[in-house]
Amino acid sequence: MKITTFGANLIQLTLYPVVFPVNCYLVREDDGFTLIDTGLPGSTAAILAAAQAHGAPIRRIVLTHAHMDHVASLDALHAALPAAEVLISARDARFLGGERSLDADETQGKLRGAYQTCKTKPTRTLAPGDRIESLEAIAAPGHTPGHMAFFDMRDHALIAGDAFQTRGGVAVSGTWRPLFPFPAMGTWHAPTALASARALRELKPSLLAIGHGVVLTDPLPPIDQAIADAAQHLKEDVAHAA
Ligand SMILES: [Zn+2]
Repeated sequence: MKITTFGANLIQLTLYPVVFPVNCYLVREDDGFTLIDTGLPGSTAAILAAAQAHGAPIRRIVLTHAHMDHVASLDALHAALPAAEVLISARDARFLGGERSLDADETQGKLRGAYQTCKTKPTRTLAPGDRIESLEAIAAPGHTPGHMAFFDMRDHALIAGDAFQTRGGVAVSGTWRPLFPFPAMGTWHAPTALASARALRELKPSLLAIGHGVVLTDPLPPIDQAIADAAQHLKEDVAHAA
């Protein structure tokens, strides 16, 4: 596992950095760490060791969305850390519990990507605007219906899950990147993902940390480029469909 530290509050843990890079993040708080996402199966020991090496316990496990590569080590981590809070959006909590249907008011696209059912139940479900210590929960649907991003109010770092990717080229979720197409393959509704990307851009993040790929420390120019690119791709899709 590759460990990269950004400033005082953020540690990126990258599993399988060469083949299929999946990031989890430790966010430092006064009482210990908030872990964001849990990675692929078998990530538990490495995540626990990373927290220990950085001198604090994991107090909370926050999930950006219910895809396998973000939740697969949740049950094992919960077994190791039974007192840690478990937090996910109310919408994706239903996927985590095994439901696979869309609501009547949601775009009736196909749910894509590998959703994984977990035994662990959230201790609290999140609504947009909720605070998790220094982090504010931001709705970022599109990749999944209940996808959330987390904005650190101290330094304006944005931990955006799969709302963006940087592996294979910076992209809004749903824009095809041939060198790493998996986030696009797993995206439920690309126009919704683009609207979320624009809303996240309005926060003017100082840093963009995502599920797949490197952290961007001067993120606004590449985010603007990715948004323009996503808008162009969607226009072309509409033209092809017509
Ligand atoms: Zn995903």
